[in-house]
Amino acid sequence: MDTTSFTKKSITGVSTVEPALTPPPMATGQPTFAKKTKLGTGKSKTKKRDIPEGLWTKCPACDTMLFDKELDENLKVCMKCGHHFPIGSRERIHSLVETCTFEEMDATMTSVDMLGFKGASTYKSKLEAYKKNTTLKDAVVTGLCKIGDQRVALGVMDFSFLGGSMGSVVGEKLTRLIERGTEKGLPVIIISTSGGARMYEGMFSLMQMAKTSAALAYHAQRHLAYLSILTHPTTAGVMASYATLGDLILAEPGAMIGFAGPRVIKDTTQAELPPGFQTAEFLLDHGLIDAIISRKDMKSQIIAYLNFLTAGKKTAAAS
Ligand SMILES: [Zn+2]
Repeated sequence: MDTTSFTKKSITGVSTVEPALTPPPMATGQPTFAKKTKLGTGKSKTKKRDIPEGLWTKCPACDTMLFDKELDENLKVCMKCGHHFPIGSRERIHSLVETCTFEEMDATMTSVDMLGFKGASTYKSKLEAYKKNTTLKDAVVTGLCKIGDQRVALGVMDFSFLGGSMGSVVGEKLTRLIERGTEKGLPVIIISTSGGARMYEGMFSLMQMAKTSAALAYHAQRHLAYLSILTHPTTAGVMASYATLGDLILAEPGAMIGFAGPRVIKDTTQAELPPGFQTAEFLLDHGLIDAIISRKDMKSQIIAYLNFLTAGKKTAAAS
C-alpha cells in the first residue's frame, strides 16, 4: 500500500507531471491552449466563409453535396448520379429555346376566385402569396418560339405555383396556345408537371380537361405534331387530358407519372404494387410512353423528333 502510493507520488513528482499539470491553467498552458484554439477556430471560420449556407444542395438520390452554381449550369441534374431536380418554367424555356425567340402569350392572365373559396386560407390570398413568391402569374408559361430551325408553340408548366395545378388559367392559356399552333400550322410542345386539377376552382378546373383535349383534336385534324413531355411529377387531371394525348410522349428519368397516387390504388385494388410503379421507367416498359430523355439531351432530341415528324408530313403533302 505504502510502496505503491509512494511510487505513484514519486513518479508524478519526479516525472514533472505535477509541474506540467499545474502550469498550464496558470501560466504556460493558457497561451499555448489559446493559440491552439485560435488556430482551430481560424480554420473553421475560413471554412464557414468558403461554404456559406444556401449555396450547396444535397442530392436526395446519392447524398452528394452539390455546389448550386454547378448544379444550375448542369440544368439541375446531379453531376454524380444524374438525379433530375425540379426546374422552373423560365429556366427550362431558356434551356430549350433559341435566344430571343420566345414570344410569350397571355403573360398577364390571372385566375379569379369564382367560387369564393374559403378554407384554412382563402384562394385569393393563396394566389397573391404564390404570385409574390414565384413571380409567376399562374402555373404555366406559353408562347411561340424557335427550337433549332423549327418554329413551335411551347407551353411549360411550373410546379412551384400551387403544385402546377390546372385551373382555368392553365387550361385557357394552353388552349389558346394549341389554337395558335393550329392556325399557324405549328407543332405544339407541352412540358407538364402537375398535381392535377386545382381544387379551389372546382368544376371550372375539371372543364379544362375537355377544353384542352378538344383543342388538341382540332390540331391533330390538321396533321400537326404534338409532343407531350412529362416531368416529375405529372398526375391526375393533367395526366388524364393533354399530357397523354401526344403523338410522342416523352419523359424525364425518374419522373413520377400516374393518375391516382400509389396509396389510393393499393387501397382500392387491395393488391401489392410492383416495384418502380408509376415511374417513367416502369411506364416505358409497359408502353405508355415512347422514350425517356435526360434533360441535357432534351433539346437535341426534340429537334430530331420534329425534323422526323415534319419531314413525314412534307412527303405526305407532296404525294
Ligand atoms: Zn445524385
